[in-house]
Amino acid sequence: MDQSKTGKFIAQERRAQNLTQRQLADKLAISDKTVSKWECGKGLPEVSLMLPLCEILQITVNDLLSGEKVAEGDYQKKAEENMMDLIRENAENKERMTLSIICGVITIIAVCALVMLASYLELPAAVRILLLVCAVLTAIAGIGAAARLEVKAGYYECPHCGTLFVPTMTDYVKGWHTLTRRRLTCPTCGKTSMCRHRITR
Ligand SMILES: [Zn+2]
Repeated sequence: MDQSKTGKFIAQERRAQNLTQRQLADKLAISDKTVSKWECGKGLPEVSLMLPLCEILQITVNDLLSGEKVAEGDYQKKAEENMMDLIRENAENKERMTLSIICGVITIIAVCALVMLASYLELPAAVRILLLVCAVLTAIAGIGAAARLEVKAGYYECPHCGTLFVPTMTDYVKGWHTLTRRRLTCPTCGKTSMCRHRITR
């Protein structure tokens, strides 16, 4: 799926309907910033907006995802390509999520093992400290790697405007979180809130 192609297509079809970004946004009850973001190729409309958007622009979802008016003869082939793209994207996100969990578990085991060695073995103080330093470094590296994988696995959903976005690593680390939500600032409406983590679109 080519987001920038779809974005240009949305802009083109919006103009063909003689609508401004603002007018299109009002019809969909979203902010005009969201429309502008789609048109710049920074994110696709969320699923619940796709049908109403297509209705307004008088195109099909298949056209929207393909970024062009699909010719009659190519219709099924394009639809299958778009479907496979979505499935592939979701599968890759699930894979990253699993890797992130495995990475976290290995880190915890390694850190525990190092701390136990340092605590229970008869060792010179210097070696003991070295083992503890290793444990701390392993913890930092492991958590960093797990977070890096997780931040790329899927999207966060803004509860105010429904935008799906991938946060920057800095925002991600700073945002305090529960298991499924993280406090982030939405790039579309600018509101900071607990955003739900979604692996799939
Ligand atoms: Zn928002």
